[in-house]
Amino acid sequence: MTQSSDLLLEVAGVAKSFATHGGRRIVHAVDGVDLKVARGEILGLVGESGSGKTTLGRSILRLLAPDRGTVRFDGTDVLGLSGAQMRRFRRRMQLIFQDPTSSLNPRMRVRSLVGEPLEVHGIARGSRLREQVADLLEEVGLDAGAMDLMPHEFSGGQRQRIAIARALAVRPEFVVCDEPVSSLDVSVQAQIINLLVDLQQRHGLAYLFIAHDLALVSHFCDRVVVLYLGRVMESAPKEVIRTRPTHPYSQVLYAASPVPDPKQARRRKALLPDEIPSPSDRPSGCSFHPRCRYTTDLCRREVPGLRELSRGHMVACHHAEDLLRGICEPSGAPQTHNR
Ligand code: SF4
Repeated sequence: MTQSSDLLLEVAGVAKSFATHGGRRIVHAVDGVDLKVARGEILGLVGESGSGKTTLGRSILRLLAPDRGTVRFDGTDVLGLSGAQMRRFRRRMQLIFQDPTSSLNPRMRVRSLVGEPLEVHGIARGSRLREQVADLLEEVGLDAGAMDLMPHEFSGGQRQRIAIARALAVRPEFVVCDEPVSSLDVSVQAQIINLLVDLQQRHGLAYLFIAHDLALVSHFCDRVVVLYLGRVMESAPKEVIRTRPTHPYSQVLYAASPVPDPKQARRRKALLPDEIPSPSDRPSGCSFHPRCRYTTDLCRREVPGLRELSRGHMVACHHAEDLLRGICEPSGAPQTHNR
């Protein structure tokens, strides 16, 4: 559990919606999310595409303006800062994008890509700047000679290392890692995750690590939040997610973690049938009910609130206790709570 003195980031009731189809439809991408991140903690944020993960990450960094809610960083109300205050504050909160090919300006040399944030924030200039860029490149496993090259001269994994060096140049305390390995070959994904964990430990960083692979994230994140259609379904320490994921969505996400094996891919499809519904057309009651194996009438009718089952383990499911005890019957007819 996060002690108040350790608390770095506190997000409360954050919601963000977008108008589409000429304003005729409203997409509720994030709908009243609460979360906390302690100093030096890695919080995993997991869900399928369309679950609202990226929108939430960007709302926290104020790259998007939330419709409501609060974001407090080290006691400061981030959403209340003026533009100038926010520009200075941004040094403390950084973002690593999913795709380094599009996040790095293809016309800038690595020296400028990594050195730019140092100059913008007045941290280093001239020979000192060059030294710091070389140190940063070395820290992410690249040779100082990379400085004079262009992004297209690197592999995808190397480009992500450059993007990491750029994000860490200003020595932030908190980094949103937005699916930083999902655009990379499987063979280099582990290398980049190991690098991020190594840097996190060396510098005491806190991460919000956004991903869609729950099993993967539960290996190196301290805690995990599972998001579905913009709402938190489960929040738990990694050990709980690994040993007893409780929300039916967490269970199938965990069991269906993406693997290259086609047989496993078919199993994933069987476990998670259909696509995630549109956030503009959210199902009634529990938004997961059309895809859930345990749906009851209550689930179709009422939105389940997040309830604490044990210390730090929160689940938004009407039948969470029975699921945890393994006495919930599938196919909509649970023995103990058919209402
Ligand atoms: Fe499934 Fe009902 Fe729980 Fe929703 S509330 S996850 S439909 S059992």
